[in-house]
Amino acid sequence: MTDAFTFILPTDIRYGKDITSELSSLLQERQIQQVLLVTDPGILKTPLVDKVIGYIKTAGAQVAVFSEVSPNPRDTEVSEGARLGKEANAQAIVAVGGGSPMDCAKSINVLMSLGKDSIKEFEGSGKVPGPLSPYFAIPTTAGTGSEVTWSSVINDTDNHYKMTIKSTYMAATVALVDPMLTLTVPPAITASTGMDALTHAIEAYTAKNANPISDALALQSIELICRSLVTAYRESDNLHARDEMMMGSLLGGMAFSHSDVASVHCMAEALGGSLDLPHGLCNSILLPYVMEFNAPAAINKFSHIAAAMGLDFQSESEGAEKAVGFVKDLAAKVELPQLKELAVTPDDFPQMAAIAMKNGSTPSNAREISETDYLNLFHKAYQA
Ligand code: NAD
Repeated sequence: MTDAFTFILPTDIRYGKDITSELSSLLQERQIQQVLLVTDPGILKTPLVDKVIGYIKTAGAQVAVFSEVSPNPRDTEVSEGARLGKEANAQAIVAVGGGSPMDCAKSINVLMSLGKDSIKEFEGSGKVPGPLSPYFAIPTTAGTGSEVTWSSVINDTDNHYKMTIKSTYMAATVALVDPMLTLTVPPAITASTGMDALTHAIEAYTAKNANPISDALALQSIELICRSLVTAYRESDNLHARDEMMMGSLLGGMAFSHSDVASVHCMAEALGGSLDLPHGLCNSILLPYVMEFNAPAAINKFSHIAAAMGLDFQSESEGAEKAVGFVKDLAAKVELPQLKELAVTPDDFPQMAAIAMKNGSTPSNAREISETDYLNLFHKAYQA
């Protein structure tokens, strides 16, 4: 008998070519006259922001633009964005970008809607007391799935780590997901964001709170990403590959929202928070080592992952081993660096292991894990 579980889907998901044009009617239906648009300096240089501003104006609404979002968004940027939103009397938020603008927008919405100044008081799960202003997410990377998750990962600049703020109230009201928007993503970002999406799916599938619906979403996500990441990386204008990556990222986001991520993310957030590195790159570096560590505790699930990757194997343990090898090969094919190539030394690992241990997703890991295990895994990844 299946264990009892709940599956919540707070976001209206709309997918397809030119779907962002629906923003006009979504704003009109809600009689929204003032919008805060959250993006980053890179997206601001593309024609996309002007296009979205056009959709907002077609709805008869005014727009204030906040574009000071860093790749690992900071608590100070959240406060600044909320200040601008309050000053403009914004009634809704539109985020255009990858996980950084989308996460920043979610946290800005908390402060803007509740009249608060610092996001730190909402760190953790379930601390947001009630409904927020409407929030529309327009993802431009295929990686984080933030358009369908209800968490926001923000850098605590005083304590140098990435905190998570989690509440279903923070989920996007509507996600407008168009894979065409990812055609301009440069190869290195396609690689790291794609490995991020794969990590979500693998961790969601093996995390302790997985359920049959998150499992189905995660396996399909693994299949799509493993089939299309190398093509999306090598042929940036291959729409079929971009489409499969966008769908893989979306399904992975839905899966991990329900089951959780686990130790790869705990380590990656400690590493990325300290060194301000791309989140997907950190995940990619650590994923195979955590898979190896976890395999004995969930050998059956790791063999399903191998099957979703399209691998042939005779036994569950062979499948698990091949799945780890596949992930290492994939990271090499998309030319992502190894841990020892980054500005990190083994002296940094004890502190990172301690931070990883405190991460709220540590208890979700398939296999029980200690601070010493985290330390050993950092060393193992460094020796690769
Ligand atoms: P990102 O949003 O930081 O973007 C990376 C770079 O890509 C930026 O310079 C941006 O300008 C550029 N870019 C984005 N889209 C582009 C496009 N279409 N064309 C050209 N350039 C483009 O990267 P990301 O990996 O999407 O997001 C990372 C953040 O998301 C991290 O802070 C991470 O912790 C967070 N995250 C959140 C969740 C969640 O559920 N909330 C899940 C995973 C990761």
